[in-house]
Amino acid sequence: MRPAAFLDRDGVINIDHGYLYRWEDFEFVPGAVDALRRLQAAGYALVIVTNQSGIARGYYDEAALQTLHDALRAHLAAQGVTLDAIEHCPHLPEGLVARYAIDCDCRKPAPGMILRSAQALGIDLGRSLMFGDKPSDIEAGQRAGVGRSVLLAKNANLAAAKGGQPAFASLADAVDALLHD
Ligand SMILES: [Mg+2]
Ligand SMILES: [Zn+2]
Repeated sequence: MRPAAFLDRDGVINIDHGYLYRWEDFEFVPGAVDALRRLQAAGYALVIVTNQSGIARGYYDEAALQTLHDALRAHLAAQGVTLDAIEHCPHLPEGLVARYAIDCDCRKPAPGMILRSAQALGIDLGRSLMFGDKPSDIEAGQRAGVGRSVLLAKNANLAAAKGGQPAFASLADAVDALLHD
């Protein structure tokens, strides 16, 4: 079994503009593509786990998200990066679209997306990593049994002091540090 790098999307891979659903608006965080390539080269499966409550809120639909993710996959593939899976949670209990307005097991901090993809891909969770920019990402990683969950925060030192979690300013900084441990 191989380890995975589980990655939140918004704020980790792309700049979080809020309820993004068009490829034209997708803007990579500097250094993120190279960091993904390095994780892949180090033997990690690459799995995006992203809360997309914009679907439950009615801002965009599953088809629009699929189109965006197809474009993302194609863009990364052209740069030598293969995503092993993209898991999204479309739910929100107070959402406007009835079929998504449920209390699910996949909206982070719940661990459902991580557990499902780990099962499907044969992932060793204990040797895996989770990268996120919110405490709910870290909690999801911990609840899933991921070996190391890393908080990315603009003010990394402040985040570390507050939460007691190791924190880095970006995915690129975190990968620099972790792959050289
Ligand atoms: Mg995020
Ligand atoms: Zn869900």
